[in-house]
Amino acid sequence: MPHMQESLLIGVLALQGAFIEHRQAVERLGARSLEIRFKEQLQHIDGLIIPGGESTCIDKLSREIAGELYSEITKLGASGKLPIYGTCMGTIFLAKEIEGANQTRLNLMDITVKRNAYGPQKASFEADLDISAISMNASEDSHPFPGIFLRAPSIVHAKENVQVLAEFDGLPVMARQNNLFVTTFHPEVTDDLRIHKYFLDQVCTSKNANEMASVTTFQYEVSTSKS
Ligand code: GLN
Repeated sequence: MPHMQESLLIGVLALQGAFIEHRQAVERLGARSLEIRFKEQLQHIDGLIIPGGESTCIDKLSREIAGELYSEITKLGASGKLPIYGTCMGTIFLAKEIEGANQTRLNLMDITVKRNAYGPQKASFEADLDISAISMNASEDSHPFPGIFLRAPSIVHAKENVQVLAEFDGLPVMARQNNLFVTTFHPEVTDDLRIHKYFLDQVCTSKNANEMASVTTFQYEVSTSKS
């Protein structure tokens, strides 16, 4: 019997930012991936990844082409039907509050974020993170995760319903609220697949056998625009 992850189709929001690296990560784990640019495509996926990028650009796109797509993501995310993983900019986009800014956001997760909290691009850094959620089952997985922070936001406030899964400098850097999952760092630029595996495992556990059987192979041809 094939591993469950092989049946999953994971969408990666592909308007801007590091979406190709996320596609490669989920495909290395045996799942299929789909670049998401239109709201209709959301019906076909088992989970959505919102990559790192630039939130002011994502904000601008909402007024130009992506308004309906964003509203549909909010609807599906709020209903609990769609598991969503936001990386770095994706964390900002999923948040209900962005400190000092009123830019477009999905308004889903009960967190307040501060953009560029560690400084500009040249202040980007790597830090070893202890994350028990990704090391629970296998002793060979218990080493620290290489957290790469690139103009990262910080999560300055999280309500009690948000489960903090890892911290750096006393603030959450990985967190979950039911079907919503965020990391302020970038696992897709490492070879370490443990964070993506964690997300896929959440997707798998939220799917029952009937839903899995109804997943059909779906091809959506769109021209690829470079970010
Ligand atoms: N600093 C970016 C923003 O505010 C996020 C950076 C990233 O996703 N790597 O949108």
